[in-house]
This record gives sequence, structure tokens and C-alpha cells, in this order.
Amino acid sequence: MRIIVTGGAGFIGSAVCRAIVHGTRHRAVNIDKLTYAATPQSTAGLAGSPRYRFCRLDIGDRAGLQAVLADEEPDAIIHLAAESHVDRSIEGPAAFIETNIVGTYTLLEAARRYWSGLPDTRRERFRVLHVSTDEVYGSLGPDDGTFTEASPYDPSSPYSASKASADHLAMAWQRTYGLPVIVSNCSNNYGPFQFPEKLVPVTIVNALDGMDLPIYGRGDNVRDWLHVEDHARALLALLARGRPGERYTVGGRAERRNIDVVRAVCGLLDRLAPRSGGGSYLEQIAFVADRAGHDFRYAIDPGRIEDEIGWRALEDFSSGLERTVRWYLDNEAWWRPLRQAGAAGRGKAAAPVG
Ligand code: NAD
Repeated sequence: MRIIVTGGAGFIGSAVCRAIVHGTRHRAVNIDKLTYAATPQSTAGLAGSPRYRFCRLDIGDRAGLQAVLADEEPDAIIHLAAESHVDRSIEGPAAFIETNIVGTYTLLEAARRYWSGLPDTRRERFRVLHVSTDEVYGSLGPDDGTFTEASPYDPSSPYSASKASADHLAMAWQRTYGLPVIVSNCSNNYGPFQFPEKLVPVTIVNALDGMDLPIYGRGDNVRDWLHVEDHARALLALLARGRPGERYTVGGRAERRNIDVVRAVCGLLDRLAPRSGGGSYLEQIAFVADRAGHDFRYAIDPGRIEDEIGWRALEDFSSGLERTVRWYLDNEAWWRPLRQAGAAGRGKAAAPVG
């Protein structure tokens, strides 16, 4: 198969490209605009492969997309390109509307035009997998159960509202035009190459730099965690066995309060990289005023993807978190320049995101 991966220079997209090139016989064509969040080093190991190609392109560039589709003749598109940071969406929503909504629309139109011109057998096999977040469902209370594919949409932030809009467009293109679209809604990811503005990496790098570990409110908000490599496997399984017109919620059955995630990272760092002046990294925790519109709890029931698709999360959260902390300790050369560029490590960035 030839698979176009949009946003393949980002955190999850690069894991998907690595999974395709290293774990399958498919070809990955990475389309990415290279925003501040892109880290091309995350796919540097793929550059020499004949089954990998990078195209610097904005998904809002319809002519550019059509040229790549005509050139590559893909069998599938995994659409991950997005503005992804909730705090940035509160400070400046315009880019989220432009990329997440208008960009997704542009991609769907380019895909529809390409797909409608395919011969019958290839048209039947073609898939667009639109990758989204559990944040589109809004907030759960402590005893509200879990999100499923049937949960109503109720987004709270400009980010989640823009993703919800994109999900609706994707499903509408399936229902109206027959474009074979699958939508996945995943919980919080963690793992290597995550830009150091999200909860796990910002906690690690702030701790190592002796900075505050800011936590919104009292840190009681709950997120459901999935290792990024498990997510990449889920997406490839959905591409192979998911049904067009259907949505799948994806998660690792690993609900944790934010304060417990931060404490766990501190505990790992105390063991693996003790503070030079003594004491614990826990002393750097600083509670800050809560985020506006902060959802209290997200939790995913992944029963459908487990039963129908045969996928399940393999990485246990504790071992996955230790692996992640070790990766950041071993890869300072990757994250240090991102911090120095000033794009990361913003004071109040220790916020959970989708
Ligand atoms: P990321 O911010 O790390 O990467 C996004 C990538 O998209 C970057 O490489 C960026 O350059 C690229 N991009 C942005 N705008 C673009 C445009 N207009 N044209 C082309 N490329 C563009 O994001 P991520 O965390 O890897 O998330 C990827 C996708 O998965 C997003 O759609 C996000 O909503 C979804 N998601 C993320 C999580 C999570 O926990 N990170 C959970 C569920 C779903």
C-alpha cells in the first residue's frame, strides 16, 4: 500500500511514519507544513528508505495536494495534520480554524476528486482515516462512565471545537459523497518526540532545568493515557480492518489524575537523574490558576476497537512512562534546541491536551 500521512513530522504522525516504514512493507508519504510543532528529526531515520518520502505542503493548498495525489496514487490517507495545543487555541484560535477545519475540508475535497477518478477495484479499497481526539466529547464527571462511539459531541475549547467540526466534515463527506472515511477519537498520547509543551514532556524538561512544574487547579483533572506506539498500531489496524462510515474510540484504559502523572514523572527522575542539590523534583510542583473551560475528566471505552478490530493497548502506563522519561534523558540534543528557540517551555504549559 501507498499511504499518505498528513502531519507526519509531528508527534503522532512521525510515530505512524516510523511504524509504516519499519513495521510494514507499505510506503509512507509524509505531507507536513512544518509548523513550530514539527520536528523533522523524528523521521530522520527514514530519510534513506525508498519507502519514505517527505513533501513540505500545507493541507490548505488544494493544488499542491492534488499534485501529490496524482503523483503518488495512494491507497489511503491518514490525516493527522492539525494545530494541537489547547492553550495556544485559547490564545489564538485563528490557526486552529484555518488548519483543523478549512484544511480538513480542503483535504477531503482533494481526496474526493482523486478517489472518484480511481478504477472500481482501487476505489473500493481506498480509505481516508481522519484522526481525532476524545476532547470532542467534552467533560465527564467523576462517576459519568466513559466515552464511547455513541457519546454526544460537546467540545469546550477552540481546539476541541475545531476538531469536532473536522470530524463532522469527514463523516459528511462519507455520507454525502460516499468517500470511504473512518474517524478515530483517541485519548491523550505520551511517548518519545512529543513537543515539550505538553504535560509529560514539559514536566520532564522543566524538572531537569530546575523550573516550576505548573499544574492547573489542584491537579485533580483526569486524562486517559495511551502510548503513541500503541496509537500508531491502532491506526494501521483501523486502516486494514475498520469500516468506512464508522468511528472508533481509542484508548489505553489508563485513567490518571494530572497530579499523579506529574508525581510519577518526579519519582522516576528522582531515581534516574537525582537533583544535583539533593531533594526531590516534587518540590518544584507549583499549582496555578485553572485553565478557562478546563474539562474535568476524559475516559475512553475502547471495547469496539478491541472486539471488532482485534487491537488493544500493549504498553502498561507505568512502564511506558519510565521508557518515555528515559528517552527524554537520553535525547536532550533533540529537545534542548526546541526549548532554546523559545517555542517550548512556556511558563504555564503544563497542561493536559488531547
Ligand atoms: P503535533 O502538534 O505534534 O503535530 C502536528 C503536525 O501537523 C506538525 O508536524 C505540523 O507541522 C503539522 N501541521 C500543522 N498544520 C499543518 C498544515 N496546515 N498543513 C500540513 N501540516 C500541518 O500533533 P500530534 O500530537 O501529533 O497530533 C496529531 C493529530 O492527532 C492531531 O490531529 C490531533 O488532534 C490528534 N490527536 C492527538 C492526541 C495527543 O494526545 N497528542 C490525542 C488524540 C488525537
